[in-house]
Order: sequence, then C-alpha cells, then structure tokens
Amino acid sequence: MGKLNYNITAALKSSNKQNLRAVVIPPMLHTINLRAVMEHEEWDILRKQVYADAGHVCDICSNREQLHCHEEWLYRISKGVQVLNQLICVCETCHKHIHFFGMLRDHSLAEIANYYTDINDWSLDKSYKYLSRQRNGYGQLLNIKWKKQTLKPIEQYGFKRNEYEARSKKLIAETLKQFGG
Ligand SMILES: [Zn+2]
Repeated sequence: MGKLNYNITAALKSSNKQNLRAVVIPPMLHTINLRAVMEHEEWDILRKQVYADAGHVCDICSNREQLHCHEEWLYRISKGVQVLNQLICVCETCHKHIHFFGMLRDHSLAEIANYYTDINDWSLDKSYKYLSRQRNGYGQLLNIKWKKQTLKPIEQYGFKRNEYEARSKKLIAETLKQFGG
C-alpha cells in the first residue's frame, strides 16, 4: 500500500517538470557544496531520495540516464549569503547546460542557447538573452565577502540544517582566507 501511494506521488511529481535554468557560481564557493559538508554516506542517502522523488527521471527533460543531484543556489548579495533553493534530479546533459560556464570553453553561447530553446520551448532569442543575462550577472558575484550558506531544503529529506550550516560557515571562513579576504 505504501508503495502504491509512493508511485502516485512520484507520477504526480514527474509530471511537474522544471524549466532548465542557468547558474553561475563564484570561484570562492565552487567547492563549498553539500558534498563538502556532509559525510559521503549522508550525501548518498540525500541524492538517492532526490532521484526517487523525481521517479528516477531528469526533472527537466525526463531522460533516465546518468542522473545527478543538482544543488540550485540563489544569492543574497547584500548579505553575503548563498541560499540553497532546491535539490533536483537532472541528467548529465541538462546538468552541463545548467553550469553553462564550463561549456563556454568549447561551445558558443548560441550553441548552448539551442539546447535551452529545445528543452524550455523558448524562442532562440529568449534563450540567448537569458543566457547573456546570467553570464553578465557573474561579475557582481566576484567581489562579495561571502559569509554563509542557508540549507533549508535538506530538512525535507530528514537532515537537520544547523549542523551542516555551521560546517559550511567554517569552510567559507577558511576559503575566504585563502582568497585573501
Ligand atoms: Zn535532462
């Protein structure tokens, strides 16, 4: 019975597809993610719950292959806070296109925009303008004195955020020193 209920929930969730969104992460925060503040086993438990909630398909394009757990971060620049917004199940291809800065080494913005156009059913113009905006926003993240991360979404997977937020705050302080802050 529990399994049946679960399947219904998974089916409802998988019909609720997410748009592909582009993110940029300032260098100082590159290595400070959930994997860095959680034990390996904890991260495994968490990401597997994210896959199960998505019905083991990409939350964006429904691909079933090579699933990753994507941490979507937002920024409160004036307070120096990086906010974990949600955890989603994504395929490798979507994940690469979310972190599109890495792709810019080998691909043009126009090529990347093509994928956004297909997946989000946007016009090419809209995709291109969206990605340009995200790329241009990167500069304003660079000289911020980051103070902490908030990790509220992990609570819904049964993890208490305080402990992990304390670890992440410590990591940020250490990294800030390395970056000469
Ligand atoms: Zn995908």
